[in-house]
Amino acid sequence: MVNVRRFLLGALLSLATLPNLTIAKDVSQPSEAATAFARISDDPLLLYMALKQMPKGADLHNHLAGTPFAENYLEWAAADGMCVDPQTSDLAPSPCAKEQTVAAIAVDRPFVYGRLIDRLSARGWLQGVDSDEASGHTQFFSSFDRFFAVAVRHYAPTMMVALRDAAADRVVYLELMHNPLALSRYIASGAGQVDRSDLAAFYKAEQPRLGPMVAAARAELDQDEAEVREGLGCATDTPDPACRVATHYLASAMRAHEPEHVFRSLIGAFALADADPRYVGINIVMPEDWAPSLRDYDLHMAMIGYLASVYPKVRLTLHAGELAPGLVPPADMRDHIKKAIDAGAERIGHGTAIAYEDDAAGTLKRMARDGIAVEINLTSNAVILGVSGPDHPLNLYRRYGVPVTLSTDDQGVLRSNLTQEYVRAVREQGLGYEDLKQVSRAGLEYGFVPGESLWISGRVGTPVGDCAKSLETAACTALVARSEKARLQVALESELKRFEQILVGIAVGKGA
Ligand SMILES: [Zn+2]
Repeated sequence: MVNVRRFLLGALLSLATLPNLTIAKDVSQPSEAATAFARISDDPLLLYMALKQMPKGADLHNHLAGTPFAENYLEWAAADGMCVDPQTSDLAPSPCAKEQTVAAIAVDRPFVYGRLIDRLSARGWLQGVDSDEASGHTQFFSSFDRFFAVAVRHYAPTMMVALRDAAADRVVYLELMHNPLALSRYIASGAGQVDRSDLAAFYKAEQPRLGPMVAAARAELDQDEAEVREGLGCATDTPDPACRVATHYLASAMRAHEPEHVFRSLIGAFALADADPRYVGINIVMPEDWAPSLRDYDLHMAMIGYLASVYPKVRLTLHAGELAPGLVPPADMRDHIKKAIDAGAERIGHGTAIAYEDDAAGTLKRMARDGIAVEINLTSNAVILGVSGPDHPLNLYRRYGVPVTLSTDDQGVLRSNLTQEYVRAVREQGLGYEDLKQVSRAGLEYGFVPGESLWISGRVGTPVGDCAKSLETAACTALVARSEKARLQVALESELKRFEQILVGIAVGKGA
């Protein structure tokens, strides 16, 4: 009896913090919102204004180093006293003549400074500058080498940029791809050859180095996160809205290297994700079309499969099918997505080349059946792969019932944000309001944020039994109390409800 009373009291207290929500019965509000949305969706600026305010469940595909804009990197480079090499127009270490410093050039030579921004991002390419000299693909991937020396010295400010951008786009949950320096150093050092028939032997040889790496990486992340909280004033009376963005991390392995380097990066990523609950999974990054990535694709999947058996708790989302016709020979587009799923991927990053795979229909049906979501990055695919409009498979995935999420990939390099991705989804892909709402919810449903879901498996938007009548029942309150995922999902529903009133107001304000 005492326990029951305590439980009820706890439930009542929790209720005070829950929004007054009913989901299942509320059918009038979404249709009114959808009608309002349809009225403004042909006006790109009104659409942007509205979608900027739309709560977005998650950004699940976000490379931390690609998130700051070139302007951020140049500001940090100037503060570090860095220089610009007059021969290459690239950033260079200090010392140099004062007029060659980034700080001086920012003030005295605006056109040179502008050229630097173009070189550190896709800006110039997007405006047609340099488009004859470099493809979007080349410009995009070249940018990383040019700012990397600045990025590795400024992870905490980089995280602050990512969180502030997410807050500005009303993102509830951010799943950031981020490798602490300790992990990067581990990956870059070491020796040994991979025997393809005995992956366990290489792993065993690496094992003694993993404990110290994990300890150093965790301490580094502790320090960076403390610096972020301090910088955003999260413990003060006036915290930055960025403090509200829930965050977890993915550790990244590198695919465009020799096998021992790739395997070491996978081992390090798995070990860190296994040890630190802030890490919820791993990914594999770098251009999928580069020679070592193509040559060793099957080997990489075998390595991932092996490590997934060693570390069964670690969840996998894998870049796969970030390819386009002509970029690689047709034979290289036959089965990457299928093989990533075979290796254990629970989500697919990009998946742009799905239609060109041998058993595309089979893979699409499997993704729909098993709840394997695709992380769609529309701006990234347009710039890097030249795939957009009806050539983009977003609607193909939807047609087969595959869960679709929208994400930014590298919003600083691409000069974009998550709102722009939603705008593109409407203007280029024809999504309506209810479609976007499902995309927003899918971000949390298929994110690796731990805990039980508010929704019935495979039926996002339909609450589980405990929450079917209302989110305010004791059973539903208990679910929310024990599940980080359900807590964020309830918060999203509350914000969506508020947004739909704003949406109606925007449509009425237009006089439509
Ligand atoms: Zn990516």
